[in-house]
Amino acid sequence: MDAMEPEPLQPEVLDEDGDVDMHAETNASFSWARDAPPVQGAFRLRCGHTYHMTCLRTWFQQKTRCPSCQQEFGKVVGKQPRLGTFSWHCENFTLPGHPDAVKTIVIQFMFPEGIDDEGKSYAGRKPKGYLPCNAQGIILLELFKVAFRRRVMFGMGESMTFSSYRPTFNIHIKTSSSGGETKHGYPDETYFQRSLRELKANGVILLTHLHGDHCYGLFGLLQTAALEGRKDPLLIVGPQGLRTMVETVLLSSGGWYSEESFQINYLEIPNTGTPGGESLVGPFGSGPRGLGFHPDRCRHAAAVQLGVLAGLRIQAVPLVHGLPDWGYVLTEPDRPGKLNAAKALELGIPAKSRMLGQLKQGQTVRLDDGSMVSPAQVLGPTIPGRTVAILQDTSDASAAIEPCRGAACVVHEATFEDGMETEAIGKGHSTSTMAARFAASCQA
Ligand SMILES: [Zn+2]
Ligand SMILES: [Zn+2]
Ligand SMILES: [Zn+2]
Repeated sequence: MDAMEPEPLQPEVLDEDGDVDMHAETNASFSWARDAPPVQGAFRLRCGHTYHMTCLRTWFQQKTRCPSCQQEFGKVVGKQPRLGTFSWHCENFTLPGHPDAVKTIVIQFMFPEGIDDEGKSYAGRKPKGYLPCNAQGIILLELFKVAFRRRVMFGMGESMTFSSYRPTFNIHIKTSSSGGETKHGYPDETYFQRSLRELKANGVILLTHLHGDHCYGLFGLLQTAALEGRKDPLLIVGPQGLRTMVETVLLSSGGWYSEESFQINYLEIPNTGTPGGESLVGPFGSGPRGLGFHPDRCRHAAAVQLGVLAGLRIQAVPLVHGLPDWGYVLTEPDRPGKLNAAKALELGIPAKSRMLGQLKQGQTVRLDDGSMVSPAQVLGPTIPGRTVAILQDTSDASAAIEPCRGAACVVHEATFEDGMETEAIGKGHSTSTMAARFAASCQA
């Protein structure tokens, strides 16, 4: 079984089982070619049936079902052309601003010319998009796939540059690998965060490991959120095997219909930590299978950078336990320094002026007399964001020491009482003294 385990941070694998929605999708979506372009003139529907593009186009003007199996493709949720492909592959180069990602995901969109639902003809288009091949890039790739299937990734519009009616981006895509933000390229520090907001994908659940007491509650939570009318997508982050577990349970209880509730996306942190590395799993401890991360392998393992999710910078650190187990270190963004009101008044900014708020947000303001006041003149030193770490179920959290240094709060388990260290380690847990030792080692 081990050799079959997916390595979720490698998009090749994600693509093969990339059907995020299980059987619940009824939206139009077409050929999912990977590297090779689809056969000239032919399109494969998601149900697997292939037709000539021209035949399909005529057919879809009358009916929106597959001519063979009657699967419905007609639920219009966006104006994106019904015929189009989304394919992607990895290339060996690094995007500016993403030195951690040695590869880059290149997405190729392809829309042949056609006629929209209102009967207006549009021009074809073949835009490209670039994402770093790291955790952030793969999260976005997954969300883009869903948006594409929902036909909301593109809209239709008049292009000023090309003076033609054609598919236009609804979601910001990096169409260039370089050139910075103004040229729709990299580097762009806040692109990931902005995209998540655009895709309304800011909800995140972090699961440490798949022992029942740490994740069975998830199903009740999903059910409650759906009943309460949640519509925004949710991202669940956790160890390898997470997706299989969640989908199996949801499928067994009648399936998960994202159109009626919300989209669930997964980020499985591979057992290698960073993609392409060596597996951190090794025989250790006395769990039922003893298949957790091995102390020797994770002692010096680097934290996995998950980027900024729900407004917090998140790092995952491998913890020694009976199953692959991730601790999470969450850091707030840095905040602007304290405003010196007396200094501001002295520079000519009246008390309670709107300008005080603008300065606090980092903007330079212009006074009535034309003089400028910059934030640096009135703000104290930047207040660094606080760090909170959640380290659940572990006998050795060494990999978390550096990321937790100076943390405002560390939650570390202590299942066994003092003096039971041998039993604790044997079961992948800690004593109160071991937890205290960890806190001392990172000065938290
Ligand atoms: Zn079919
Ligand atoms: Zn556990
Ligand atoms: Zn536990």
